[in-house]
Amino acid sequence: MSSTTGLKKSQLKSLGRILPSDGLVVAPHEKLIYGADAGGRCVMPWAVVRPGSVDQVREIMRWAGKEKVPVIPRARGTNVVQACVPHRGGIVLSCLKLNRILSLDSRDFTAHVPPGVITHELQQAALARNLFYPPDPASVRVCTIGGNINTNAGGMRALKYGVTRDYVLGLEAVLPGGELIRTGARVHKNVVGLDLTSLMVGSEGTLGIIVSAWLKLLPRPQCSATLLACFSQEAHALNTVDSIFAAGVLPSAMEFLPREVLQCLSGYASMPWPAGTGAALIIQSDGTGPGVEEEMSRIRLALEKTLHVDLARQEDEERIWEFRRLINPASFRLGPDKASDDVTVPRGRILEAVEGIRAVAREHSLPVLVFGHVGDGNLHTNFMYDSGIQGMRQKAGLARRDLISLVLGLGGSMSGEHGVGLSKRHFLSRQPGPAALRLMREIKKVFDPDNILNPEKL
Ligand SMILES: Cc1cc2nc3c(=O)[nH]c(=O)nc-3n(C[C@H](O)[C@H](O)[C@H](O)COP(=O)(O)OP(=O)(O)OC[C@H]3O[C@@H](n4cnc5c(N)ncnc54)[C@H](O)[C@@H]3O)c2cc1C
Repeated sequence: MSSTTGLKKSQLKSLGRILPSDGLVVAPHEKLIYGADAGGRCVMPWAVVRPGSVDQVREIMRWAGKEKVPVIPRARGTNVVQACVPHRGGIVLSCLKLNRILSLDSRDFTAHVPPGVITHELQQAALARNLFYPPDPASVRVCTIGGNINTNAGGMRALKYGVTRDYVLGLEAVLPGGELIRTGARVHKNVVGLDLTSLMVGSEGTLGIIVSAWLKLLPRPQCSATLLACFSQEAHALNTVDSIFAAGVLPSAMEFLPREVLQCLSGYASMPWPAGTGAALIIQSDGTGPGVEEEMSRIRLALEKTLHVDLARQEDEERIWEFRRLINPASFRLGPDKASDDVTVPRGRILEAVEGIRAVAREHSLPVLVFGHVGDGNLHTNFMYDSGIQGMRQKAGLARRDLISLVLGLGGSMSGEHGVGLSKRHFLSRQPGPAALRLMREIKKVFDPDNILNPEKL
């Protein structure tokens, strides 16, 4: 961990005037936690500001623009790519005090939400009114709407319902210098001017501080069911995925667990699959009662050469999803550290990708777990290693480099949901191409001419 104090006394005094009481944090032991996120790096911020109103955010950004002080926006710090680490110093702006849902409208199917609302709280508030906010990252109980918007978070339901971007109708954001802009509108359709809302979604806090969002809601699905299907071969599982789509079914979630994952889970807890299982699918359907029954019978007809099938309805579904959740804790049986990525490949190339990833792992003599959202080609890849052994961290880094080459060669993307942050920044030039990158840099300059907002991320 590195530490620095880059603010003059007079600057701290001005911040104190904008943020009386507990809005300004300067004590090292209190601000340390704001220097880290789930990406595994920590740099002490110069100070932490915790505005409690949009006016305070505007004043901070006006001050930062004048003083040319870097500002790093932050919510719960669950991003895994070091997207809110103040690696070159600056003040961290925590959005967590802006956390009261402003409105939920069951006739308009919209919610107006500030950035610090926990995603699960919004989901529960919507359900209580028979409404549904679908984006569902696995971190849903701790992450926020502001973080989700800035990382364009996805999740298991993305196959049927899409990702965060698909639910953002409009935004209010404060730019460096303090100006407040409004993008989009509180309506479900809108084609006026360039789509600044979409531009800001996934921008990792580099374009503006989002202070509120208009979100789209859906009617609440009445019920759901989950099916676990075990196969002897991975090809049978992937052929089944094709057959499910061919049968006209779009499941709400479809997860693929190849053989290494099943082996790792079997050594961790008692598992239901029979000996000889080489792959499994977890498939969920939701909607109306008769609709779910109809989809589940079509899915059962599409299953190819299964060794074991288990169907769970509604409250009972958790016992199947528990296997999926255990992958993370079980993975540490293979090594105390992991180099994780969330690559995406065209759906038809998943088997090629899984075999290629295994070849990369063999090449670097590292165990690997690859699994994920098979319906949208989004594969989570964990190279396991021990950073206590000399050279292992570098080895894992080389494996990630080769993984990205493999995925780009298959026509894929280096990130399906986690983003770039600092941890993938050095790979960035390999994907969008020089002309697109130049445009991105120029757009950033228009929003943030002095490069004070989350500098060097993306
Ligand atoms: C166990 C675990 C499971 C996860 N599962 C998933 C998953 O299934 N799908 C998925 O997509 N991700 C997943 N993630 C990653 C992470 O939860 C998401 O990226 C999430 O959206 C981050 O939200 P946060 O509130 O923690 O934001 P933070 O991590 O604090 O911030 C994320 C980014 O948003 C910016 N930011 C935050 N608030 C604002 C604001 N108001 N204005 C401007 N910029 C802002 C920050 O600068 C940063 O760039 C997971 C992470 C963990 C640890």
